[in-house]
Amino acid sequence: MIARLSALRLLVGHPGMLAILRRAGLTDSLAGLLVNNWEKTFPYAAYQKIIAAVREIYGERGYRALAYRAGKNSFAETFGGLPAVKTAKEQLAQMGDERLRLHLAMQTLAEAMEGTSIQRVEVSLRGLSASLRVDFCFECWDSPLTHEPICYGLVGSARGALAYLLGRDDYLVREVHCTAAGDDFCELEIKPPPEAMRGRGLGQTGFLTLPPDLRAGVDEDTQEQ
Ligand SMILES: [Zn+2]
Repeated sequence: MIARLSALRLLVGHPGMLAILRRAGLTDSLAGLLVNNWEKTFPYAAYQKIIAAVREIYGERGYRALAYRAGKNSFAETFGGLPAVKTAKEQLAQMGDERLRLHLAMQTLAEAMEGTSIQRVEVSLRGLSASLRVDFCFECWDSPLTHEPICYGLVGSARGALAYLLGRDDYLVREVHCTAAGDDFCELEIKPPPEAMRGRGLGQTGFLTLPPDLRAGVDEDTQEQ
């Protein structure tokens, strides 16, 4: 989650980040933590205070967009240097089978998430689709119960990983289970565009709930929903 916060700082600027930390009641010294590192121990409670502060300052719409962007940007920015990610990226450049490429990319994302947090991540693969189950998701940990999935940063993170590793930004990623919505774990569904088009209208919104004006460059394929 340090990675996520580092990406957030890039989006809102250092003064913006300091304002968020102050609003969250966290000391400015925390800003020193927000350099790229793969620290596992950043406290969940502090992260939740930061999420609440971002909501207060930027509003719900702004929060969703920032969380998604921070998640998406943070993969390349901070995980690109992990040995497992470097190796995977080299291997992927040589691979032609898109199904195998997606599988390796998803496994690499899971490894990066587990290696840098106490989240437990499990990948299931079904042909050209995949799902990513996350236990102890830090994004919605201790969240009040909501009527829809809320892990916009997690969705962004998966999109960022696929864009970075596969050089493709057109996979559809939706959060279909979320502990904030009463499920036992969070789960992302990853589908290539045509299959995802057919699966539409199942009431699984993921971040289709992102306001239209904030979706630019996010998920063009889903805008007419
Ligand atoms: Zn969630």
